[in-house]
Amino acid sequence: MTDVPLMDTHCHLDPQTYGGDAGVDEVVARAHAAGVRFLVTIGAGYGVDCIERAQAVARRHPRVWFSAGLHPHDAVHWGPEVVARLRAAASDPRCVALGEMGLDFHYDKSPREAQRACLVAQIALARELDLPIVIHDRDTDGETLRTLQDEGAFEGRVLYHCYTGGLVHLAELVEAGAWISIPGIVTFKRAGELPAVAAAVPADRLLIETDSPFLTPEPFRGRRNEPALVVHTAEKVAALRGLTLPELARLTTANGLRFYGLGAVEAQA
Ligand SMILES: [Zn+2]
Ligand SMILES: [Zn+2]
Repeated sequence: MTDVPLMDTHCHLDPQTYGGDAGVDEVVARAHAAGVRFLVTIGAGYGVDCIERAQAVARRHPRVWFSAGLHPHDAVHWGPEVVARLRAAASDPRCVALGEMGLDFHYDKSPREAQRACLVAQIALARELDLPIVIHDRDTDGETLRTLQDEGAFEGRVLYHCYTGGLVHLAELVEAGAWISIPGIVTFKRAGELPAVAAAVPADRLLIETDSPFLTPEPFRGRRNEPALVVHTAEKVAALRGLTLPELARLTTANGLRFYGLGAVEAQA
């Protein structure tokens, strides 16, 4: 617990996961009670219809904003209808980003050609709408980064969410201009290079997230994840960087608000 507000920069507050609207309301209330005062719920990853479900949650909660996108898992559904729905969602002032979008060659739930086409089209849409981009990247051997560079994505802001890619790739991403979000995996006993990564991300590019409902941090691993638990990730990252929890909270919340273009909200925090 810290008096300095924390931000969960990436969660999926889908009513279908959390027991309907009432369940989401309880999760948001617990987050606020734990000092997690700013939330971005991601309208992607749970089928096309989660775009509007995320939007509805953000409209009901003054401290929740949303992103809209098509996850690489769902890339096979890309087409004019989805584009129209993304444009409609993006016209809502509560929409602060497009995504998560990207490539996932670990699960390959959509054909790779469909994933590539869907990513390229969404980068173009984000550039046209002047919205930051939230990236999902898994086992693509740098192809996601090359695509972002080829399509000019770094003229705007780009966030690698749930980053688990190691130190060498981190250096390439930082050089390209990416922002990096550290998930609860950093608290696990077998966290690979992630603790070293969390210590190495430049201070002005570092964010934290839960990716709720999955990837619950220690000591609650195995339970359903929710934004209140980002406190445990914050404590771990603070220790790794030699900061106090309030210092880490101040840094990552300011970065999160800046990334999502919510600087004006910061002043009221
Ligand atoms: Zn993801
Ligand atoms: Zn996600």
